[in-house]
Amino acid sequence: MTSLHDQNSVTSASASPASVARGVLSLPYSNVDDVFVDGAWTPAVGTGRNPVTDPATGEVWGSVPDGSVEDVDAAVASARRAFAGEWPRLTPTERAGYLLRIADEVEKRATEISLTNTRENGSPVSESSGAAANAASILRYFASLADYLEHEDVRAFPRGGGESIVRRDPVGVCALIAPWNFPINLVVIKLAPALLAGCTVVIKPASPTPLSIRLIIDAVAAAGVPAGVVNLITGSGRLGDMLVRHPDVDKVAFTGSTPVGRRIAAASGELLRPVTLELGGKSSAIVLPDADLGAMSSVLIRSCMRNTGQTCYISTRILAPASRYDEVVDMVTATIAAGPQGDPLDPATVFGPTATESQFRTVLDYVESGRAEGARPTTGGRAAGLAGGLERGFFVEPTVFADVEPWMRISREEIFGPVLSVLKYADVDEAIALANNTEFGLGGVVFSGDESAAFAVADRMDTGSVGINFFASNHAAPFGGRHDSGLGTEYGIEGLNAYLIYKSIHRRG
Ligand code: NDP
Repeated sequence: MTSLHDQNSVTSASASPASVARGVLSLPYSNVDDVFVDGAWTPAVGTGRNPVTDPATGEVWGSVPDGSVEDVDAAVASARRAFAGEWPRLTPTERAGYLLRIADEVEKRATEISLTNTRENGSPVSESSGAAANAASILRYFASLADYLEHEDVRAFPRGGGESIVRRDPVGVCALIAPWNFPINLVVIKLAPALLAGCTVVIKPASPTPLSIRLIIDAVAAAGVPAGVVNLITGSGRLGDMLVRHPDVDKVAFTGSTPVGRRIAAASGELLRPVTLELGGKSSAIVLPDADLGAMSSVLIRSCMRNTGQTCYISTRILAPASRYDEVVDMVTATIAAGPQGDPLDPATVFGPTATESQFRTVLDYVESGRAEGARPTTGGRAAGLAGGLERGFFVEPTVFADVEPWMRISREEIFGPVLSVLKYADVDEAIALANNTEFGLGGVVFSGDESAAFAVADRMDTGSVGINFFASNHAAPFGGRHDSGLGTEYGIEGLNAYLIYKSIHRRG
């Protein structure tokens, strides 16, 4: 049955440091058999199970239901009933009050969220320990937009004779489908605007990361959000597909791979259903000749290899001027080589494992392809043989390739692992052409000592976001990909608008 506070079962197998570190953990969830529907944890109908694996040790430490069509139907019906109820009729300010209470409840669960997240996907605790605070900040930011929704929008007919009152209605029941790299924040960035707008939701987390999100659901319940407004089902991508096509779903918000995003876009097109897609990336960091490489080194990992390279917007192609190419390669190599790799539960760890065994194999294949196509690894370049109980973990050595040419696969395709490519350019026009010569368009960075020169380059980059001398996403500013990186916008007022539909009521003036 439901195990709200069952103990972590991995306590004693051996006395390796990794097993000792895991043995002392007492996580709220490990083996569960329920889903969250109609405001309560309810046994799933689907009898299949999906394992939860610790990518640092390769050990299965939990399991969740692999939901069935009945679970999908029950969750959507619950969200539909709630959408017919009080939630969309509350004022935006009243709903913002719930968001603020959820934020407080999320913060109370920060440690459990961080540790569960780390055990699911191997994000170092130095990364996952920020998840709750960031989620709370997202919730509070969207709560602050209640005034924008409260404001009555009246627009005169340009030729006189009347005016229109523009209503912003919630779009309805939303399916929120999330990936495994940031299992909390990539849900909350959808959940917060959806709730403020007055929508109700069904969340489907990625199969490797189905447990940490339960703590967000607990926060939602503790905040007193009415039953049915937020629902959670777990299971394979098959469930995601059922949600996308479900007749009672009004909108889909998805973060994940470009191929799955394309399938969702096709299905949504057929159904004429609004969709937001945040997909892959292959972003570039342009190093201008006057860049301060010491300062660049201090932000390199965050901007270019965050979360062991498993972040959609990071700039994994570093474009260096020919005049300073060797210097840039040396700095990037030294910085990456100095980042400690090890047990993600160790606060000193910077690089953890890749999140899944299949990701581990994919990343190693890319490393081999880089070598085979003639790129030169300057650090890393193989599976990391770690000891202390991490022998079966999915660790790839943080890797830097020099002498990378634009046609190589490692330069063109999203690797989603700890692999950087350093390319050479002759002049700034070539740097911009190289940066723009990609199917994607999500992030980017310009490093320069001259901010106006950096802005001029940023303005010419064909991408959704660019940082000057660092990269961080700002949940008050729009975030979205161009080309194969996605469709639509999350974050900011623009991200809230994605959960609204409009109605103009005209009257004679
Ligand atoms: P997917 O796109 O396969 O999965 C993302 C989410 O979609 C998961 O919840 C998944 O469920 C679900 N899903 C899978 N198939 C369908 C479907 N047909 N309809 C609806 N939902 C579906 O990404 P992966 O997790 O497999 O990662 C693969 C690659 O995607 C990575 O190597 C990386 O390149 C990219 N990626 C990009 C991310 C980003 O932030 N832009 C994030 C994660 C990955 P389930 O997990 O159960 O299959």
